[in-house]
Amino acid sequence: MRLPGKLVPEALKTLGKDSATIRYPEQSRSMPDRFRGRVAFDPDGCTGCGMCERHCAADAIVVEADGSEISWRYDESACMFCGQCGESCPTDVITMSEEYDLASSDPASFETTHTFER
Ligand code: SF4
Ligand code: SF4
Repeated sequence: MRLPGKLVPEALKTLGKDSATIRYPEQSRSMPDRFRGRVAFDPDGCTGCGMCERHCAADAIVVEADGSEISWRYDESACMFCGQCGESCPTDVITMSEEYDLASSDPASFETTHTFER
């Protein structure tokens, strides 16, 4: 434990310096380049191949085809943010976003479904 006599000089050293903390959630930090937040998906280039589903160790992605209609479903509550789905996607339509503010009391908000024709 530090003695109060050492704390005072340490505190004085911080005078005039910017705060080390931010007023979250009013303020947010920008994330480093390789940060992996919520999975982002662009249905425009998706072929429905299912590689993302097959390589997801958390079963967080389900790809289903019904004729020409493709359904791509992502469960954020199961996701480990490993980035493997983006690595496996042959058309690069999955990326890891900078979104980290994911808490919610509504379980339905964790599921995202895209339905589109191919
Ligand atoms: S980031 Fe990892 S856990 Fe999340 S959906 Fe992609 S492969 Fe699955
Ligand atoms: S791997 Fe890419 S192209 Fe294939 S189903 Fe997933 S998102 Fe679509």
